[in-house]
Amino acid sequence: MSETLATSPPSDGAGSSAPFGAERAERVAAVAFDLDGTIYLSSELLPGALELVEALAMAGVPYLFATNNSSKTGAQYVEHLRSLGLRVTRREVLTSNDAAIAYLRGTSLRRPYLVATPEVVAEYRAEGIEATGERPDSVLLTFDTTLTYDKLRRASDLIRAGLPYFATHPDLVCPTPSGPVPDCGAFAALLHAATGAQPLVLGKPEATMAGAIRARLGVAAGTLAFVGDRLYTDVRMANAHGFLAVLTLTGEATRADLLASPHVPDLVVDDLGGLHRYLHRVGTLEQRPSAEPGGGG
Ligand SMILES: [Mg+2]
Repeated sequence: MSETLATSPPSDGAGSSAPFGAERAERVAAVAFDLDGTIYLSSELLPGALELVEALAMAGVPYLFATNNSSKTGAQYVEHLRSLGLRVTRREVLTSNDAAIAYLRGTSLRRPYLVATPEVVAEYRAEGIEATGERPDSVLLTFDTTLTYDKLRRASDLIRAGLPYFATHPDLVCPTPSGPVPDCGAFAALLHAATGAQPLVLGKPEATMAGAIRARLGVAAGTLAFVGDRLYTDVRMANAHGFLAVLTLTGEATRADLLASPHVPDLVVDDLGGLHRYLHRVGTLEQRPSAEPGGGG
């Protein structure tokens, strides 16, 4: 079996926990994918990913790649995904940096002390968020693979001084072919130890990212399938925002993790080939091409 319905969601009285396999799957109108551990691991495509994305494009089903990994720019993701043969434009890529930029634009904050790689700093600058380090109005932590002690010390000082404090995502580690490496959530844990403060998270599983995903795909939450490999970000966000939660076992989570998890997917697949067959069976891939493939609204 390449796909199985998860065990019944906990009955919390919400009344909207119909199993994916019943009536909900018939209404899959768009699909959003996590990247690391779902579409690829580093530069290696995971089984079934290319074929499923191509099938969605051919059927005119909007799709999106939504990643918490804020170490790279959206343009870098487009380049990387294209190098792997995936059909993608900037519109089909949503990073936690995009969510953070959208969030800051909705506030009066424009000058964060931005803990980020140089290319990500440039991406924020191009979007009107100036991270000069002079007179910052907030602190924004990302997956800065160029992190230094000086940056940690400055961020700690500013957080303790009471500036609004944000993080792009809560992931403690990032999967790599040679094993997990410290990620943004681990940096936040260090700063919590030093300052006692916790950041407002803007990426998965939080509302800012979920809202950005829905806005990009332009479909109702209940018809949006979110596919990821992590229970505490991907599945948690899908559950909290009424998306169809699809867990793929190609990354972090294992079947053993599922048993102990409070975050219960609607569908579990061994890889994206399993989801492909499932969407084919329930008719999602037979839609007539309409609007722009992968676009949405
Ligand atoms: Mg992942």
